[in-house]
Amino acid sequence: MTPTITVSRWLDLLQSAGCRVTAPRRAIVELMVGTSRALGPIEVYDLGRTEHPGLGLVTVYRTLEKLEELGLIERVHLPDGCHRYLRTADGHQHLLLCTTCGLVQTFAGDDLDPLTGKVASDTGFAINEHWLQFFGTCPNCRKPISTLSES
Ligand SMILES: [Zn+2]
Ligand SMILES: [Zn+2]
Repeated sequence: MTPTITVSRWLDLLQSAGCRVTAPRRAIVELMVGTSRALGPIEVYDLGRTEHPGLGLVTVYRTLEKLEELGLIERVHLPDGCHRYLRTADGHQHLLLCTTCGLVQTFAGDDLDPLTGKVASDTGFAINEHWLQFFGTCPNCRKPISTLSES
């Protein structure tokens, strides 16, 4: 689905959920649809204000909450206990999050069966789902500053 179609679909869903579609809301939706970074409310606020100086922080929080309720974005948890938001991935995904710039990549393939098997037999739980997220530093953020300015 192209970003433009996704943006109008999200706006339709917001409207059906009782949110008036305003220019600031549209800016927030465009941001969340168009980025591959996990964004915190403050970042959404700062980025959104470059296009809509009148954007309010309350609107950002409310819109993000609504989008999360609708299942369009999901919370990504950070080691410091804060969270950011990211477009919900299709299907079962594992996330890799850069703690420096917030870039998110997904990776496939988990071989968790030995672990879940052991945990299941140790605890007596029937385990039917898992959620896995790695933190680290992306290749771009690992570059020394000097090579960044050359590119
Ligand atoms: Zn990074
Ligand atoms: Zn998995």
